[in-house]
Amino acid sequence: MLKGKTALVTGATSGIGLGVARALAAQGANLLINGFGEPAAIDALTTDLARRHGVDVVHSGADMAWPEEIAAMVAQGAARFGAIDIVVNNAGIQYTAALEDFPVGQWDRILAINLSAAFHVMRAVLPAMRARGWGRIVNLASAHGLVASASKSAYVAAKHGLLGLTKVAALETARTGITCNAVCPGWVLTPLVQKQIDDVAARDGLPVETAKARLLAEKQPSLEFATPEQIGGVVTFLCSPAADQVRGASISVDGGWTAQ
Ligand code: NAD
Repeated sequence: MLKGKTALVTGATSGIGLGVARALAAQGANLLINGFGEPAAIDALTTDLARRHGVDVVHSGADMAWPEEIAAMVAQGAARFGAIDIVVNNAGIQYTAALEDFPVGQWDRILAINLSAAFHVMRAVLPAMRARGWGRIVNLASAHGLVASASKSAYVAAKHGLLGLTKVAALETARTGITCNAVCPGWVLTPLVQKQIDDVAARDGLPVETAKARLLAEKQPSLEFATPEQIGGVVTFLCSPAADQVRGASISVDGGWTAQ
């Protein structure tokens, strides 16, 4: 379905971003994957994606906290592939603390990576998408873009902001072949969430499996984690012709979290 198209997926060296990159490559899209990691592991990953799906895959180690690195990443994609057709703004980080204890540096970094990076990427890719008359932008928000939890001020603020940004982009592109939507996962068992499970286990002296079950029971009625593959499936749908008129939407994949 996406043969000949190029997809930029930020934060694609782990977790959800990797699941999304695999799903888009399986549809034939060439990939510009961004994210951190050991060079050997990233080499193995790009080689595996390229071989398995017969697509062209390159990596950018740009830090999404810095606008000039984002601009260089988009320029790298344009130079290699001609243009970027699909963008998945996925890179994200978490830090938990009560508001009055929240380190200012962590606030700034979360807002930069989880929110401002999407603005900088979209700003850079939109002119070429408009010129080509087609584009797909998918922003990885969260259940925390729709509802809040204590101790997550920066993350919740950034994800709520990302949903607002998604709607503005959808309106500004409404009469074009470009769509912009958001996906809002609940708990997905990735390194980002494993760290929160490990912190709860250590803090409350619990076995990791008990901490995991408690995390799910607190928020996610299905009592099951969503998977990176399922998020990849939803992003693939948003890139399909069936989603041509899905614009400015937030699709929840949260086991019922925000239905409560
Ligand atoms: P993860 O920690 O497994 O992966 C994060 C990815 O982002 C990695 O590839 C990492 O290298 C990259 N990254 C981190 N900081 C970066 C930076 N400054 N510049 C470039 N790349 C950077 O996390 P995940 O759970 O897969 O989360 C991916 C996205 O999904 C995030 O935006 C997160 O907020 C969102 N999300 C996750 C969950 C969940 O339960 N895991 C739920 C809702 C939303």
